[in-house]
Amino acid sequence: MSDKKDYVKGVFQRESELVYEIVQAAKSSGLPDDSRLMSLVKKFEHHLTIRTLLLKKLRKEKDDRKRAGGSNKMYDRKETYSIEEILSKVIVGGRKDRSSKVLFGEDKINMASHRYQNFKKNGLSCVSCGITGQFFAKEKSRSRQESYHFNLYALDGSGNEVLMTKDHILPKSRGGKDHISNYQTMCLPCNNKKGNKIIIPASESKSPAPIACDRSSQLQSAL
Ligand SMILES: [Zn+2]
Repeated sequence: MSDKKDYVKGVFQRESELVYEIVQAAKSSGLPDDSRLMSLVKKFEHHLTIRTLLLKKLRKEKDDRKRAGGSNKMYDRKETYSIEEILSKVIVGGRKDRSSKVLFGEDKINMASHRYQNFKKNGLSCVSCGITGQFFAKEKSRSRQESYHFNLYALDGSGNEVLMTKDHILPKSRGGKDHISNYQTMCLPCNNKKGNKIIIPASESKSPAPIACDRSSQLQSAL
């Protein structure tokens, strides 16, 4: 995700530089009498200034959010729960329906979710980098319409929260099924890097480290 953002930022940056060069070239092109051109150049210079300030402001806001609390900027958080509090309520093998909803605080949460079942059955550690989920937070997305649910978080070396995800071993785009046998636990950064490749956990493969196969769609998923 951040690779993509950096790429987009780089493209915009390059575009700004090019436009700036064009503006400078137009100014010194020996057409100072062309007042229409000069007024356009002035307008564009003004626009570039505003744009630079805006990018600076956005970058600062992003840094502030990062300092304030890891990846939680995406979610509206209510309370946090211990691993045991949540895993003990997970309904394994159950279907998601009214009867599988459990009240936590003031929110009814469906405990037959495949995501929670995956964490309970396949463990809390990322199969790729090994980081381990340490607590659950009751949250909902700030941008999407959804009800409160639990997200599992690990903490990295600097104390930043890292969201843990349920990954499809055989990606859905390659016919992988929504089934507990096709799930594994993976942190969000590793999952984003994985794309639709297939990653076999070290413990299940013969090689000492996780292997990533097939880079065919890497370019496609870069943007
Ligand atoms: Zn990971």
